[in-house]
Amino acid sequence: MAGAFVLIVAGFGSAVIGGATDTGALRADKYQTISQNYVGPDISSAASEVDVSRSFDRSVVEKQAKAQAQQVLVAQADLAKKVDAKAAEVKANQWVLPVTGYQITATFGQRSGLWATVHTGLDFAGPSGSTIVSVAAGTVKSAGYEGAYGNRTVVTLLDGTDIWYCHQSRIAVKPGDKVDPGQVIGYTGSTGNVTGPHLHLEVHPGGGPAVDPKPALIQHGVTP
Ligand SMILES: [Zn+2]
Repeated sequence: MAGAFVLIVAGFGSAVIGGATDTGALRADKYQTISQNYVGPDISSAASEVDVSRSFDRSVVEKQAKAQAQQVLVAQADLAKKVDAKAAEVKANQWVLPVTGYQITATFGQRSGLWATVHTGLDFAGPSGSTIVSVAAGTVKSAGYEGAYGNRTVVTLLDGTDIWYCHQSRIAVKPGDKVDPGQVIGYTGSTGNVTGPHLHLEVHPGGGPAVDPKPALIQHGVTP
C-alpha cells in the first residue's frame, strides 16, 4: 500500500508541476499508470460476491429489520423519557437571582470588623426598597427581626436547604407561607448591622452551617 500511495503522490505532483500545459490526455495516461500499479485488494470482483438478496433468506432479513425498527422505537421512547426527566430535574434545580440591579460588595469568608467572625453570606448592594424574590420554591420557616441580621426571612427549599434573606426594609411573607421561585418575599434595606442598603444572602444546606452562596447559585444555574 505504501508503494501505491507514493505513486499517487508522485502522479499529483507532476500534474501540478505540469500546470496549464498539461493536457487531458496526459493526465488520463497518469491515472492509467496508477491503476495499473495498484496493489490493494481487487475491488471490482469483491463487490459482485456480496449480494444480500442471494446469500440471505429474505424472511430472515425482514424479521430482523422489523425487530430493529421496534428497537429504534423503544430506544427513541426511552430517550424521550430521559430527556423529559432531565428537563424536569433541571427545572427543579434551577434557581432565580434574589435581586436585580445590584453589585456584589462582600463575599463568603471575608474578614472585617463588621462581622463577629467571618462573613457567612453574599452581599447584594443596591437601592433600598428593591424587591427580593425567593430563589426557589419553598416554605417560609421564619420571618422577623434578628439582631445583627435585621429583618430576616428564612425560606426552607424543597431539598431542605434554608435560604436567609437579611437586612430587609420590609418583609412581605409570614411563617408557613408557600413561595414560588421568583415570588416577592420582601424589600432590601439596611436593618441590623450594616453600612448601607443590601441583601445579605445565606445558604444553609439541611438547615446546618452556612456554605458559600456563590457556587450554590452557580450550581443552580445562576451567576451572581
Ligand atoms: Zn453580608
